[in-house]
Amino acid sequence: MTDNSPQSYPQPISEAGTRVWRIAVPAPLEKLFDYLPASAAGNAAPGCRVRIPFGRGSRIGVIVDTAATSTFDPRRLRRVTEVLDDAPVLSDETLTLLLWCASYYHHAPGEVICGALPGLLRRGAPAHSGTPQRLRLTEAGRTATPPARAPRQAALMNALRGAANGLDANELDAAFGEDDWRRAARALEERGWLERLAGEDRANHETASGGLRLAEGPVLHEQQATAVEAILSTNGFQTLLLDGITGSGKTEVYFAAMEETLRAERQVLVLVPEIGLTPQLVARLGARFNCPLSILHSGLSDGERFAAWRRAANGIAPIVVGTRSAVFTPMPRLGLIIVDEEHDGSYKQQESLRYHARDVAVMRARRLGIPVVLGSATPSLESLHNCIRERYRRLVLTHRAGAAATPALRLIDLRADRPKDGLSGQLAAAIEAHIESDAQALLFLNRRGYAPTLLCESCGWVAACQRCDAHLTIHRARGLLRCHHCDARQRLPSTCPQCGAAGPAPIGLGTERIEESLRERFPGAEVLRIDRDSTRRRGSLEAMMERIREGRRQILLGTQMLAKGHHLPNVTLVGVLDADQGLFGVDYRAGERMGQLIVQVAGRAGRAERPGEVLIQTRCPDNPLLGALIAGDYHAFARTLLHERSQSGMPPFRSMAMLRAESVNRDAPANLLDAARELAASVAGEDVELLGPAPAPMERRAGRYRAQMLLLADRRDRLHALLAALTPRMDALAAAHRARWSLDVDPIDES
Ligand code: ADP
Ligand code: ZN
Ligand code: ZN
Repeated sequence: MTDNSPQSYPQPISEAGTRVWRIAVPAPLEKLFDYLPASAAGNAAPGCRVRIPFGRGSRIGVIVDTAATSTFDPRRLRRVTEVLDDAPVLSDETLTLLLWCASYYHHAPGEVICGALPGLLRRGAPAHSGTPQRLRLTEAGRTATPPARAPRQAALMNALRGAANGLDANELDAAFGEDDWRRAARALEERGWLERLAGEDRANHETASGGLRLAEGPVLHEQQATAVEAILSTNGFQTLLLDGITGSGKTEVYFAAMEETLRAERQVLVLVPEIGLTPQLVARLGARFNCPLSILHSGLSDGERFAAWRRAANGIAPIVVGTRSAVFTPMPRLGLIIVDEEHDGSYKQQESLRYHARDVAVMRARRLGIPVVLGSATPSLESLHNCIRERYRRLVLTHRAGAAATPALRLIDLRADRPKDGLSGQLAAAIEAHIESDAQALLFLNRRGYAPTLLCESCGWVAACQRCDAHLTIHRARGLLRCHHCDARQRLPSTCPQCGAAGPAPIGLGTERIEESLRERFPGAEVLRIDRDSTRRRGSLEAMMERIREGRRQILLGTQMLAKGHHLPNVTLVGVLDADQGLFGVDYRAGERMGQLIVQVAGRAGRAERPGEVLIQTRCPDNPLLGALIAGDYHAFARTLLHERSQSGMPPFRSMAMLRAESVNRDAPANLLDAARELAASVAGEDVELLGPAPAPMERRAGRYRAQMLLLADRRDRLHALLAALTPRMDALAAAHRARWSLDVDPIDES
């Protein structure tokens, strides 16, 4: 309870004599701010939100620390206006993790800490609802059969079954909508199946009735059992790389390890790379475990997010499933972290705080002394390297579980078998055959739109973005030219704007164009295109996946969206239309990324009882990297790339950071980075190599010129020492007035 009486100061603060509070303020500044405690300090402790005067306005910040003295003149310190919480909204563990992030990524701690709160809390909403009443099933309710003719009551019972501590009104509002559950609750109460508890009156963690397990999993095969045993027998912190081919039963390994953790009354955090993969996993979890889930991803409304976050933070939800930022969710009893598809680039945030959720997960597990499992069929080179260095423990699943056989992979030489609308004769024939046999074919092309270029064949004019160094992509169905970098749009011209000639020609192939030609060539099949354009509306991806799960005689055409972890049991043929795209790119990570995509998409074939076939079109059939992929040997592929990385001194063999600068002024970014380089050179020893500044691979984007400088070091601590000295001084450089800078520690994208 908040004590508003002024005389309560300063007694409630933990250490006697505390004079200042260190407060995280959402501002791009590298430090915490000292304030005098509020006059009504109540139970204020680190992790509580406060309202503070800041500049001429006011902000909501978070108490990070309390101290006896300030390095500032205490007479000039301002006083906290108001304490918003009577108990911390961020636990010590979460605060410490966030502070670690701020220091590792050299980012303003206030932005990191305040940014980890759900939007509603950030804006000052109360952390507890006004009516802290909770609903719980009675003994009779727990053993009763839910009434078949009252689906709402049945749904409410199911939700409450999993919640040994009951659920409160906010959580029920979020799960069912405000009116629906209230009426159902009254009906259940009348039957004597439901009771209302006062907020504080919480049951201890009694085991939910009916047991934790709703359904039996399959009997684990030997490699799975070994992996589960390894996870459960770790004593304290350990990172385990679950390196298993697609369909080898990684998810079943997660589930078995989770079950033991849940039995021990600990929480489990499961990270997935993207929102599109959550429904599938949530359905499987819901079918297996009899306990509440908290689901956190970018598609939630503020209210939903807050409710889910709170269920995790107050320990009601034993399982939390979420995308990247869920790694920061406070979980008081966290006992196991799982990072599925750990190689996936979506785990890295590309703006503001540029953190990698996998790496944060590993750090979090280390601090908590718990195991963290990284799962993938195509582990990142970083993780494989960590296994070689024996920092991670590698667990392998080498064959598919159940009946499914591994697909056969074959290359098609496009120089000998000339493609028509992107399809070689062999691939076209294979599609025909698989459709004939009532199955599905999946074609992969990582380029959306109709064509990447519009060219006038009379005068050579090319449709280019006004604001980027890039061509505009043709989106014919919508009659648009669009820039995939800044999202500029204009109408698709029917004549050349430069010479007036009719019909500028589309050059190259995108998914939209292939879709059109597939419709013509395979009239007996349904063609479904799955990319960012076709799945823009909320729920459309799920609807499409539903259609695909049931489907026969379909050709699925998609970008990398389709390559990721979806179960597509009827797909028997996978065609990669252009393996060369990306495999030989400029970015030093391009090869790794494309190889992973090829293996992942190939893994979609033949997951049920039907054997699969994978055809890969290329103009470089003799390339040894492709050869390794075809032989089904991702590890030979990865070893080759690791060898190249060690030769060139790139990550994971050296630590890297990238300093970027951008401005509307062409020279300003390079000028700032030149000054930064000078500054860096003056504080760094020989042990950090500075490369650049150089223009970014796409120098102009969205009207801004961009430059970058790489910092590389054999020893991570040396790199960080330099960054710690450099970043606080950047803003003081004269050139910093004309360009914006940002730092990316462990960058994964060089553009
Ligand atoms: P992954 O996560 O590695 O892609 P899954 O765990 O999803 O693999 O398993 C692939 C399929 O094989 C699923 O349908 C799963 O139910 C089934 N499966 C997994 N393990 C076994 C097992 N030990 N016995 C029989 N079927 C299994
Ligand atoms: Zn022209
Ligand atoms: Zn653009």
